[in-house]
Amino acid sequence: MPVSGVAPYDEGNIFARILRGEIPARKVLEDDYALAFHDISPQAPVHVLVIPKGPYVSVADFSVKASAETVAGFWRAVAATAHKLGLEDGGFRVLTNCGHDAGQEVPHFHVHIFGGQPLGPMLARRH
Ligand code: 5GP
Repeated sequence: MPVSGVAPYDEGNIFARILRGEIPARKVLEDDYALAFHDISPQAPVHVLVIPKGPYVSVADFSVKASAETVAGFWRAVAATAHKLGLEDGGFRVLTNCGHDAGQEVPHFHVHIFGGQPLGPMLARRH
């Protein structure tokens, strides 16, 4: 069920629970700014999620509320995750869903990193 990208932050969301260690995740990288872990339902040979450690609902919320240091630290962690996964030579895609029209399901800002094969068109074709 898609969620709003501008709703108040819900401390009970699944990624907040992963950050608190209440739910396990297959971690790829963790630093002061971000946690990267494998998606539970991968849509490519490599499908990893990167989330900031603070309470941000979406990229819209994060970009308005997070400090410049936090924004920079997060995006450096995204790049470091792709590097750690060995995706730079072959290439990879970074995607974030924000709100209903994008189909965002988890109301904690996250980016998807996809890789490991040619990824096809950026969007499904309209019929
Ligand atoms: P969204 O649609 O919000 O951009 O993506 C949410 C992603 O979170 C989906 O790709 C989904 O498979 C993943 N996901 C949902 N619940 C869990 C979970 O408990 N653990 C992990 N690792 N991924 C999850």
